[in-house]
Amino acid sequence: MNLINEISDSDPEIAQAIRNELSRQEQGVELIPSENNVSKAVLQAMGSIFTNKYSEGYPGKRYYGGQEFVDVIEGIAIARAKNLFGAQHVNVQPYSGSPANHAVFFALLEHKDKFLGFSLTSGGHLTHGSPVNFSGREYQCIPYEVDKETELLDMDEIRKLAVREKPKMIVSGFTAYPRKIDFKEFQDICDEVGAYHFSDISHISGLVAGKAHESPVPYADVVTTTTHKSLRGPRGAMIMCKEKDRLHDKYHSESKKNLAQLIDSAIFPGLQGGPHDHTTAAMAVALGEALKPDFKEYASQIVRNSRAMADELMKNGIKLVTNGTDNHLILIDLRPIGLTGKGKLVQDALDKAGITANKNTVPYEPSTPFNPSGIRLGTPAVTTRGMKESEMKVIGESIAKIAKAPEDESVISRAKSAIAELTKKFPLYPGMGILK
Ligand SMILES: *Cc1c(COP(=O)(O)O)cnc(C)c1O
Repeated sequence: MNLINEISDSDPEIAQAIRNELSRQEQGVELIPSENNVSKAVLQAMGSIFTNKYSEGYPGKRYYGGQEFVDVIEGIAIARAKNLFGAQHVNVQPYSGSPANHAVFFALLEHKDKFLGFSLTSGGHLTHGSPVNFSGREYQCIPYEVDKETELLDMDEIRKLAVREKPKMIVSGFTAYPRKIDFKEFQDICDEVGAYHFSDISHISGLVAGKAHESPVPYADVVTTTTHKSLRGPRGAMIMCKEKDRLHDKYHSESKKNLAQLIDSAIFPGLQGGPHDHTTAAMAVALGEALKPDFKEYASQIVRNSRAMADELMKNGIKLVTNGTDNHLILIDLRPIGLTGKGKLVQDALDKAGITANKNTVPYEPSTPFNPSGIRLGTPAVTTRGMKESEMKVIGESIAKIAKAPEDESVISRAKSAIAELTKKFPLYPGMGILK
């Protein structure tokens, strides 16, 4: 069943847009750290007839009939996630990362309860307490920052803040932090002040699964992750948690539910209706791929690639936040090259050369989130594509040249040729480019 040909016949306009997007992905290099290229098997599961099914509830406890095969895929997805991450309890139904995080707040906190989250400009996510997000509007967020000099998390400051504010929950895990996170230290602080530890590993879950970053699962009460970033699955999310509520007597003494039940009921019926079964099927496939030995190789290559690109950028006079990286992500600070607030200009110049990246705030951003002073890069997608350190050098050099002269068309066009040359050698979905 070649689905694109079906679309070509029934809806040529959409088919053309899909073909165009495929060439865009194939001809450029994808450096948005939250993106990746899923396998054809994951794509096929996503496009499967499981999208036809409704299955409110959980395996064995559904509201509608005809669930025998949905229960199979959801059961397998849960078992594989438990196996991969060593989690006690897993919920694979969240529609995406933001709804998963919403469910955690909904399960653990009451309206206006206080929690600690990483500030958005320093690298936190919207759902970690931004004032425009539910998390900042319905709950009281006390943001923590990185150290101004080192740009690293200052665990002593976080501890002092926690002791002073006595939050009910502390969020660890970020969206734009290029260094390792000490989850045990976060847990120690949570234990000290009697707070829930909620770890959001959306960005790094592929590294955690592939043992290229420490896991928060042994420590944190609740861990969420999107499944479509470095984990390389379909768009969706999972919540992993301990069975028992460590702080039951302090915060939920009136409830008969344990932690796993609080989380499950926050997702359904608390916030969602029927799960996306086609996504669950694709998630099971992706988790199966992540359990294979070569996933570890992929995860460690992501970090090697990231370091190689970071070194090349710095060698070419580009300042990086924290002066390097330990993970899949690099944050360029444009201020030292006179481009404060010019992230958008550089992003657009990179786009013209076939390099897809995103503008990003830097810690203590002097400009605005829409015109920030940084560029965020990441290596999961190019690593999936098979690129290694030598390709990272070519890409890093091109980025450095463009960043230093974002309005020089000849620089951009030379970089564009170098990128086109490179991507030709790494076909993205071999065989899919010759669709009618
Ligand atoms: C991407 C991300 C999310 C949100 O995921 P969506 O699927 O876009 O809703 C949540 N938390 C972190 C840390 C993320 O990086």
